[in-house]
Order: sequence, then C-alpha cells, then structure tokens
Amino acid sequence: TTRPKVALVTGANKGIGRAAAEQLAGLGMTVLLGARDPGRGETAAATLRDAGHGAHAITVDVTDPATVQAAAQAVEERFGHLDVLINNAGITGSGQVAPADALDQVPSSVDLDMVRRVFETNVFGVIAVTNAMLPLLRRSRAPRIVNVSSGIASLTAAGDPAGPLAALPASAAYAPSKSALTALTVQYANELRQEGILVNAGDPGYVDTDSNNHDGYLTPAQGSAVLVRLATLGPDGPTGGFFDENGPVPW
Ligand code: NDP
Repeated sequence: TTRPKVALVTGANKGIGRAAAEQLAGLGMTVLLGARDPGRGETAAATLRDAGHGAHAITVDVTDPATVQAAAQAVEERFGHLDVLINNAGITGSGQVAPADALDQVPSSVDLDMVRRVFETNVFGVIAVTNAMLPLLRRSRAPRIVNVSSGIASLTAAGDPAGPLAALPASAAYAPSKSALTALTVQYANELRQEGILVNAGDPGYVDTDSNNHDGYLTPAQGSAVLVRLATLGPDGPTGGFFDENGPVPW
C-alpha cells in the first residue's frame, strides 16, 4: 500500500483555496486546510470530512512566523513529510472593489503602508511558508509547490498599451505583488530543480470570490483546476513556469 499524499493549501477556508483543497482531497490526498482563523478552518475541514475526505484544519497566518513554525512542527509530528504546498493565501489590499477597479492602488497616490501589507501577505508570506515547509517537502517522492499568481501580474500583458490590462486603473500594490510572486517562483524553481522539486505559478482566471466582491465569472472549482494540475505534475513536468488553464502565461 502507498501512503496517501499530504497537501497543504494556505488560505483554504474559502474561495479558490478551499476548492483546491476539495479537489486534492477528491484525488485521495490528505489535505491540510491552512487558515488564519482556526474556527473557519475547522468548519471547512469538517465539511470535507463529512464528504468522506481526509481533511484537517491547520492554523497558518502567513504573516505570523510563530504560526508558520508551529504548522511545520505539527505537519512533521503528524505526517513526517509534505508532498504538495499550494501558496494560495492572498489579499488585494482594497476593500469593497475588485483590484482591477481599485483607485486606491494608483501608484502616484497609493498609501505605502497598504503596499507593504499586500507584499507582506502575497510575497513575504510565501517565502516564510515555503521555507518552513521545504524540509518536509524534501522528504516527499514527488514534491510540488504551486504559487497562486494572477494574469493581472503578467508584465507582457500589462505592458501592452493596446491590451485590456492597460485600460484598468494602474496598481502599485496587488499587481506588482503578484509579479513579484511569479518572479520568486522562477528563483525557487532554479534553486530546487536539481532536487526534483517542481515549483510553478498558476493563474486561476477571474473567479467569483470575496476577493473581488463576486465580480468574477469562473467558479472557485474552475479556478482551482490549474492549481491542482500543477500540484500533481508528473516527474517530467515543467518547473519555473506560469500557467493558466489554457497553457503558459507570458511573463
Ligand atoms: P478569498 O478572499 O476568497 O480567499 C483568500 C484566502 O486567503 C482566505 O482564506 C483568507 O483568509 C486567506 N488569507 C488572507 N490573508 C491571509 C494570511 N495572512 N494568512 C493566511 N491566510 C490568509 O480570495 P480568492 O479565493 O479569490 O483568492 C485566493 C488566491 O487567488 C489569492 O492569492 C488571490 O490573489 C488569487 N487570485 C484570485 C483571483 C480571483 O479572480 N478571485 C484571480 C487571480 C488570483 P480569511 O478568510 O481569514 O480572510
């Protein structure tokens, strides 16, 4: 018998992360639903368990090193290894508007503290969680890391003055944070390539979630499909790439 694979999804109490957790559980993996609020994490995990899946809540606030370290310790003690890490937790930084419409992110007038908060979660939090989990991922036979980026972060697309992204309010916070995350993905992939750890960035598309006040048109399950695909790549799969459901996304 083979042991079930163990997957950790950050920000899995709702939205795309929760859908990714459900899909990984449906593939037979034991899923650890990272949530900064233990109660909301447990509610989501219990729903998956009630459906017959192997699911546990784990407290992870990606901006709080103590919770990140405690989570790594808990995974170590309970499972001894980790096969899949999906760095999904993220914030837009803007309140009641979708990031694409958020005038408070316009570079020339942005609140620098908001930029810092967004990078703290979307970029630095990913480094913190990834580095805490790497010793456990190194014990997996097929370790996979997926960073949840965004099509809005494509510099090729944003840099095209005739393209659709140039028509959106410019952003000094959310979009650059995801561009940085994509850039980080390439750097991790290069470091970890020799070890067989595949690291890719995924763009879920525009998904109906709280983060855009339900303006998105894809379901969370549709959005998470590419993340699950990248989390289950075979040994010859790509690393250091940026993909959506249709294939490679230009940098
Ligand atoms: P949601 O707001 O529905 O979910 C975000 C999740 O991240 C929640 O579980 C939230 O927890 C969690 N989170 C936020 N901050 C932290 C933190 N410091 N520590 C741990 N967890 C945290 O948004 P989505 O499902 O839409 O977003 C998921 C990811 O997908 C994000 O990275 C987002 O940027 C990305 N994305 C989304 C797109 C979309 O169209 N929806 C498009 C492209 C990318 P809590 O419930 O406690 O707030």
